[in-house]
Amino acid sequence: MDAQVVFRCDACSREFETLEARRAHEAEPHLIAVRPGFTCAACGAPFRTPSELAAHARALHSL
Ligand SMILES: [Zn+2]
Ligand SMILES: [Zn+2]
Repeated sequence: MDAQVVFRCDACSREFETLEARRAHEAEPHLIAVRPGFTCAACGAPFRTPSELAAHARALHSL
């Protein structure tokens, strides 16, 4: 049996060859990996809610 074992991140479904690589990945924030519902048109930052996006756009881009 030499099937390739894949370690997959539960949050973003990215696959890794080693458990250590997956753990290192999971230790990082998943802001971009997690499916963003809303993306800032000006800088591409992802947000979960339209109000977060609106607050961001108002604060950073004066939109
Ligand atoms: Zn992930
Ligand atoms: Zn932005």
